[in-house]
Amino acid sequence: GIVLLVTANINAQNKDYFDSKKPIEERIDLLMNQMTLEEKVGQMNQYNGFWDVTGPTPKGGTAEIKYEHLRKGWVGAMLSVKGVKEVKAVQKIAVEETRLGIPILFGLDVIHGYKTLSPIPLAEAASWDLEAIKKSAQVAADEASASGINWTFGPMMDVSRDARWGRVMEGAGEDPFLGSKIAVARVQGFQGETSADLAKANTIAACAKHFAAYGFVEAGREYNTVDISNSNLYNLVLPPFQAAKEAGVRTFMNSFSILNGVPATGSSFLQRELLKGKWNFDGFIVSDWGSIREMKNHGFAKDAVDATAKAVIAGSDMDMESHFYVAELVNLVKSGKVKEALIDDAVRRILRVKFELGLFDNPYKYCDEAREKAVVGSKAINEAVLDMAKKSIVLLKNENNLLPLKKSGLKIALIGSLANDKTSPLGGWRVASEDGTAVSVLEGMQSYKGNTVAFEKGADLTIGKTTFVNELVFNTTDKSGFEAAKNLAKNSDVVVMVLGEHGFQSGEARSRSNLDLPGVQQELLEEVFKVNPNIVLVLNNGRPLVLSWAKEHIPAIVEAWQLGTQTGNAVAQVIYGDYNPSGKLPMSFPRNVGQCPIYYNYYSTGRPTNDEKNVFWSHYTDVENTPLYPFGYGLSYTKFEYKNLKVSKPEYNKGETVKVTIEVTNTGNYDGKEVVQLYLHDVVASIARPVQELKGFELTNLKKGETKTITFTLTDKELGFFNNEGNYQVEPGTFKIRVGGSSDSGLETQFELK
Ligand code: BGC
Repeated sequence: GIVLLVTANINAQNKDYFDSKKPIEERIDLLMNQMTLEEKVGQMNQYNGFWDVTGPTPKGGTAEIKYEHLRKGWVGAMLSVKGVKEVKAVQKIAVEETRLGIPILFGLDVIHGYKTLSPIPLAEAASWDLEAIKKSAQVAADEASASGINWTFGPMMDVSRDARWGRVMEGAGEDPFLGSKIAVARVQGFQGETSADLAKANTIAACAKHFAAYGFVEAGREYNTVDISNSNLYNLVLPPFQAAKEAGVRTFMNSFSILNGVPATGSSFLQRELLKGKWNFDGFIVSDWGSIREMKNHGFAKDAVDATAKAVIAGSDMDMESHFYVAELVNLVKSGKVKEALIDDAVRRILRVKFELGLFDNPYKYCDEAREKAVVGSKAINEAVLDMAKKSIVLLKNENNLLPLKKSGLKIALIGSLANDKTSPLGGWRVASEDGTAVSVLEGMQSYKGNTVAFEKGADLTIGKTTFVNELVFNTTDKSGFEAAKNLAKNSDVVVMVLGEHGFQSGEARSRSNLDLPGVQQELLEEVFKVNPNIVLVLNNGRPLVLSWAKEHIPAIVEAWQLGTQTGNAVAQVIYGDYNPSGKLPMSFPRNVGQCPIYYNYYSTGRPTNDEKNVFWSHYTDVENTPLYPFGYGLSYTKFEYKNLKVSKPEYNKGETVKVTIEVTNTGNYDGKEVVQLYLHDVVASIARPVQELKGFELTNLKKGETKTITFTLTDKELGFFNNEGNYQVEPGTFKIRVGGSSDSGLETQFELK
């Protein structure tokens, strides 16, 4: 009798929170009323699953402790457990062996695809094609969710102006307007557009990261100090995050960096006041990897107890990899140092996302073996990433229309080890099991049978291991392959050289103090040029590079970034003109590294120009102020002409919509696409405004000979700016407008705002 009674008691919970007919907030209440403090804190705890979770329970070590915690219901989320079999094994413990059966979130860095990789995010940004970018996130979600994942740690929306920072490859470049549009496209791609979409089995929760200002690490050195003005914080850094919040992003990740001396992880200003307060965000914030612990290194927290208290009080809801919450939080609440209400708030947010994903209704909804088999690596997904790859390519130079190449009768020399690399073009954020899965440029070029394509690597880019950047050793001396490359070039009609950075050279912890072609590649380029100057330079890189010599000498330059699984096919289609490139740079390319940070939306100085010589007083003595290739720049195989820029009225009242029109004509010999860009300058304001700011763009298809009128509308949303207190304001005065195909070209007009 006693035994029976005890059993009945343990199972006495009210399981009404599983009733899908009840509203989510009520279900959360029903559940939370039954949770012990330990179970609540457990929801705030995330562990990685870097062991064989399908194998027997390990004895000893951290994995055993993790299992113990899993069974007690002390784990809210797992990181990097993937695959249906694996996820199911862990989810089963949470659902069937814990007291309350709360399902687990499975998070992963789905940064540019899951198994089938799309171009790196910076490359995708170069497409300025919001539909394509959304689609790319959608197929990534489709594939990841088919493998058990229900949460991605992306998109990264850190605006950055410094190409030395390796993580620029993960973002959308230097501009907050383009960055905001792309952030929304990606969030909607991952999550769908409504909360009903989020509950579908092929969408996943997104994460806006890194909140905030991580992109401004000094001198581009990873994890370095951030020192940023209020003006830049409000006008450059925060807008994409706010746009993502408005688009319904369900989670945020804080940042390793500090802001005004306070680590973002411990920042009440960022997390409680701004995000959860002013912006009214009702999802949850996850810390970055170990960032709660790192507050000790910052000199902001004394020990684990102090760091935990500070992080929770500031609003960090979930602990990724510090393991502090699970160890310290219960005691902190019991001793009265942290109010239980703060824990309740965090847990409510985490549970809300789980309910919205539909995990309580079917915890195994992402664990469908048949779907995993059908979706991962499917033809449809490969087609989508190929489409995205072509759209991401930027044509930087094309003298005498060297490109596109004829499809037959040519002897082509393909040179550069990257041309024959099936791993590097996948870019950062890939795992070892994906090694070798990219279509190489060599394979892509050889799939066109009309020409002969012969390959010589010329030189190896790296020597030794290529698993982590610290183990990457660059070849700076071995030129033994130069002769063979030169011989091949000499006896060929055209040389296609694939040069750039290794895929492991950008991304997290991959800052560079040089932006040139690593190793002996520059020398190889110059040597080959001596024997055959008819070169198409195809660049593979995860950030803007310094290309001054190439721009001066090489007739055709194609910026192909790291385009993912379908790299070779995308490059070949562009080279042969089966696809007319339309990408535009989302970041300025400097003339030399000393110009960094360099960006298009700079301020006028008090010493702008010397009128006689038309040079800037504020200048270097050894290099021009302009970048080598500006933001928004990119060519096509056809030509576009801009005419008749008009504002519908010379004067507007505040609150009225400004209408701007321009005619764009395709005057060249190919059908093509153009990204028509509108830049604005608020001439005089209470806080000086940049010389130009992107405030509109439209990607338009134009057939050979076709003219289209493009219309832009500007409202208060585009005309104002944030003051230094973070309040948005629109001020009367003169506004200049320029519309063109780049940040350094186009037609100009102006209007008055009364
Ligand atoms: C990165 C995050 C990432 C996390 C989990 C951290 O080092 O900064 O962007 O989501 O690791 O992999």
